[in-house]
Amino acid sequence: MNKPNIVILGAGYGGIMTTVKLQKKLGVNDANITLVNKHDYHYQTTWLHENAAGTLHHDRTRLPIKDVVDFSKVNFVQDTVVSIKPEEKKVALENGELDYDYLVVALGFEAATFGIPGLLDNAFTIGNINSARLIREHIEYNFAKYNNETEKKQERLNIVVGGGGFTGIEFVGELANRIPELCKEYDIDRNQVRIINVEAAPTVLPGFDPQLVEYAMNSLEARGVEFKVGAMLKECTPNSILIEKDDKQEEILTNTTVWAAGVRANSLVEESGLEVNRGKVEVQPDLRAPSHPDVFVVGDCALIMNEETGRPYPPTAQIAIQEAELAAKNLAILVGGGTHLESFEFMDRGTVASLGHDDAIGVVFGDKKLFGWSASVMKKMIDNRYLLKLGGLGLLLKKGKFNIFH
Ligand code: FAD
Repeated sequence: MNKPNIVILGAGYGGIMTTVKLQKKLGVNDANITLVNKHDYHYQTTWLHENAAGTLHHDRTRLPIKDVVDFSKVNFVQDTVVSIKPEEKKVALENGELDYDYLVVALGFEAATFGIPGLLDNAFTIGNINSARLIREHIEYNFAKYNNETEKKQERLNIVVGGGGFTGIEFVGELANRIPELCKEYDIDRNQVRIINVEAAPTVLPGFDPQLVEYAMNSLEARGVEFKVGAMLKECTPNSILIEKDDKQEEILTNTTVWAAGVRANSLVEESGLEVNRGKVEVQPDLRAPSHPDVFVVGDCALIMNEETGRPYPPTAQIAIQEAELAAKNLAILVGGGTHLESFEFMDRGTVASLGHDDAIGVVFGDKKLFGWSASVMKKMIDNRYLLKLGGLGLLLKKGKFNIFH
């Protein structure tokens, strides 16, 4: 192989970090690097709940790919991947086709609605800039409409969030801060508005330390969030949801159901014919697909078992970034003619969940629990660290979160 074609699919955490690291490791004479992404911008998925609630403008969350990727070294193709053909070493795009010698699949996640009637058609999901912007606009429209109708419709002011995991809780935290502002803007009594979080498990944030969970629920309840735990969402219509708890059903009128209870890997992965486990590629230690040594998979499309727990590592930005760094390293080894690739080892730097502007919970440095303001400062430091890693000081100063006294 003279000058191999390396094609990277997706410019989220996994894809953009692979590209940025690779452009530093390889010269233009070593390989042709192509990055494919739907949009000409990269966005930080972990900030989308803020855009959806309207507490942070979406332009803070996205950044032009050209600002971090060197287009003299990387061929950027703005297009949508429609299929991956590993047997032919080709990728079909909406507007063309690409051949590869090495492929990196970093196409992220999509919502999983588990066949719940009406959910796919009637619920919103927080998946990208467009869907987050739509939720913000939709909530604002319903608030604006409320006082413009003779018959006041409570469903305009009821917001249901399905799922009390990381995303659902972070989103209700932002809503709890945003709603009082919206009430002021649209002359609505705050007591009229309901923010309802529905979780099927007996507790929200399953897997989190119980003390942190209690803190989170108290903080959110104090700001007007209602929890329905142990409750299954059974059906969603354009203006209601049906939930079931202890064999009793309850209908809640709402024009706004946001589904944050399930994600799966991008379905293009399963459709590609690559060997999958739970819709993801269970990668080898060097992050290559077991059946196809020329395909690396990173981020939410990859599955890696945690040997200690016997369960897969949860899909996070943290693991996606670490995988991307190793994928770039291993690709550079292959391009250089090497055969001994490095194995992935996850460095758990902790987990922090935001509960709104200056409130959060988390576990860092192994077992140190953080609550409230200090946890929210830690969250901003994690976000800022990523920007520094991706685009250096310039990007950090442009996009970083420095307002720690909100
Ligand atoms: P993504 O970052 O989602 O990137 C996928 C990219 O592929 C996108 O740019 C997309 O546009 C592109 N793409 C998709 N399909 C196509 C196609 N067909 N053609 C072309 N391009 C395509 N994780 C944490 O570690 N900490 C957190 O605090 C945290 N908070 C979160 C909060 C929210 C609201 C959400 C939704 C998730 C959160 N996560 C968090 C999870 C984290 O965001 C994901 O695990 C992470 O984004 C996965 O990275 P990725 O590179 O696999 O995918």
